[in-house]
Amino acid sequence: MINNDRILNAVFALYEKRKNDSENKAYEINNFLNTDKNWEQNRYQIKDISMQIAKAEYFGESINIEALKEKREFLKQERAKLLKSKNLSESDLAPNYHCKKCNDSGYFENGKLCECFFDTLSTVCEGFLNISTPVLPSFEKYISCNPTQEKLKQKFIEYTNAFPPKNIKNLIFTGAPGTGKSFSAGCIASELKAKKHSVIYLTAVKLGDIFLTYHTASVSDKQAIFSLLTSSDLLVIDDLGTEPLLKNVTVEYLTAVISERLNLSKPFIITTNLSMDEIKNRYTERFLSRISSSESARISFSGCDLRQKKN
Ligand SMILES: [Zn+2]
Repeated sequence: MINNDRILNAVFALYEKRKNDSENKAYEINNFLNTDKNWEQNRYQIKDISMQIAKAEYFGESINIEALKEKREFLKQERAKLLKSKNLSESDLAPNYHCKKCNDSGYFENGKLCECFFDTLSTVCEGFLNISTPVLPSFEKYISCNPTQEKLKQKFIEYTNAFPPKNIKNLIFTGAPGTGKSFSAGCIASELKAKKHSVIYLTAVKLGDIFLTYHTASVSDKQAIFSLLTSSDLLVIDDLGTEPLLKNVTVEYLTAVISERLNLSKPFIITTNLSMDEIKNRYTERFLSRISSSESARISFSGCDLRQKKN
């Protein structure tokens, strides 16, 4: 298959690899066992007795079925012992699929995608886009230097405890550089990650790079990238305003991602040194009104630098 759906092709290649790996492993184990005469004999005996039992039950034959069942039980115990002596168990004989629902194919016979598909797509997409989450700070390192900051810290902890939030979903952190905006967003992101929520944390510069890749991607790869940016439980865009502004790319795609997240009720956090007026001038009034919807809270940071108090 030659096409330029690089992400989707990689997703299905990964499924195929997972499937082959687990099936080959089970195949090798079965082959290895079949070289053992005792194993083969035991397997044959169990099969033979099972057939005798089935036949007797079906035709109502007057033989001692209970005795046969007892014998079969004994043979099964022998089988278990044999497996144990080779450091194996019954579950090693069948493929141990990564996803037991779709047996690592990613979809079902009726064409529906399996629920593991999005995770796999995200893994591949993150690799393709070279997204790696930076080392994030945690609330333990968040030492407030005044009561206002302490109140904010408690609010952020509440936000993570009540996640996904019902009313205020999105947070816009504004303020001068070095006032703890990125640090606070990082604490929230790491806490939610620890609670097993899917979080994508991107600098605005990295997001700009992704938009460029998106711009030239195939239709299905575009869908994959868009879905990655819009479907995670939380998206953090750090330092909005530091990315180069590319015509027909930055504002358009940024607005599309934020609008889709609002539609899907998927929270986002934006940190920025820009004022609301500067945001309006740089990204349009439409964008500003999206990020300042009734589901968003703007928090302005001032005062000491939380980063300096990390240790
Ligand atoms: Zn699956």
